[in-house]
Amino acid sequence: MPGRRDVLKFAAASLTLLVSRVGAGATAASSILAVRVWPARDYTRVTLEHDQAIRYSHMLVKDPERLVLDLEGVEFNSVLQMLPSKIIDADPYIRLIRAGRNKPGVVRLVIELKGEVKPQVFALKPVGEYGHRLVLDLYPAEPVDPLMALLEKSAEPPLKAEPGLGQRPAQPAAGSEKPEPGPEIARLITIVLDPGHGGEDPGAVGRGGSYEKHVTLSVARRLKQKIDATPNMRSVLTRDGDYFIPLNQRVQKARRVQADLFLSVHADAFIKSTARGSSVFVLSENGASSSAARWLANKENSADLVGGVNIGVKDPYLARTLLDLSQTATINDSLKLGKDVLGELGRINTLHKAHVEQAGFAVLKAPDIPSILIETAFISNPEEEARLNDEAYQDRMAEAILKGIRRYFAKNPPLAKSKLARLD
Ligand SMILES: [Zn+2]
Repeated sequence: MPGRRDVLKFAAASLTLLVSRVGAGATAASSILAVRVWPARDYTRVTLEHDQAIRYSHMLVKDPERLVLDLEGVEFNSVLQMLPSKIIDADPYIRLIRAGRNKPGVVRLVIELKGEVKPQVFALKPVGEYGHRLVLDLYPAEPVDPLMALLEKSAEPPLKAEPGLGQRPAQPAAGSEKPEPGPEIARLITIVLDPGHGGEDPGAVGRGGSYEKHVTLSVARRLKQKIDATPNMRSVLTRDGDYFIPLNQRVQKARRVQADLFLSVHADAFIKSTARGSSVFVLSENGASSSAARWLANKENSADLVGGVNIGVKDPYLARTLLDLSQTATINDSLKLGKDVLGELGRINTLHKAHVEQAGFAVLKAPDIPSILIETAFISNPEEEARLNDEAYQDRMAEAILKGIRRYFAKNPPLAKSKLARLD
């Protein structure tokens, strides 16, 4: 920990002031190295990357809604001056940012908001390519519910939205008052597609400069279209934009919509540019199936460090997931799904590994949803990088994955949904 963290809280009717100190020894002026803004429907993130720890405080002010952030001992340099110009009109939460020197040694940012937000402001220590980061996450006061998003988009909604569902985000989707009809032969299947990485976390970067996070989103969007065009199937993306989602929240989104399957889409990378081919992974409860699989799981799990998680926020869900006894049965189904998808990928690409591998991937830990992680190809291989950026190839990749999914369901027809465990 870089020094202790002091939190002073002044609660008034319309004013909250939080003062945090990071890096108690910081005396020389810190320079802002980069500013990034990641607008998304889930939340908008503003990142200030700087060369040494800084002191900061923030307060939320009403009428109109705005967030005021004071940065102590920070130069008001040209990078920081660029921040206001990075706000787009379509940003769901930020109207505009004003930046200026407030008093000697203090730079003040005033973020004018489009509505009420619940801000999280936290510091991240240097990791990977990044220096120190100060992160402002602006969440809506009323959380966005992926289930509602699904219902809005679905052409044939099978789930009945209850009044007040938005106020009770942990409510299971089976909100229908009517009892389930007998055995369902062809019920609607919900597939959650998880484009790996996003926002602050670019994932692997190809030699030609392409980012894994863009390739994964592109392939997942194509797959979503194909699934949605398939009778009795629909899909939800964990993210449909360039922003970061912690790994456990990807799992939670899948559980909230009672997904039948969860597919995390990635692109592999290795030091040697000759490494190539597709591979498929599932969760392992007892260690990795190979050292390469363990290495990969560690790499994918580091997404939270790079992407930036506020460790001050407790996640009671994660501990529960690890203890769930239904995991073994789910892993068996995941292996079957993985095999079918791998078989189809083998028709359009070299296979990096001819069998499904297992390791402790955090994103595959839904206890009750068969989950696989697909490494579509090696973005570190120039030839495969070019193919990953090719729309026709992305389409073939999506088609192959869909075929694998259909093959799996042909052999393992979906059962009537039992009452799922409540999340709350
Ligand atoms: Zn990845």
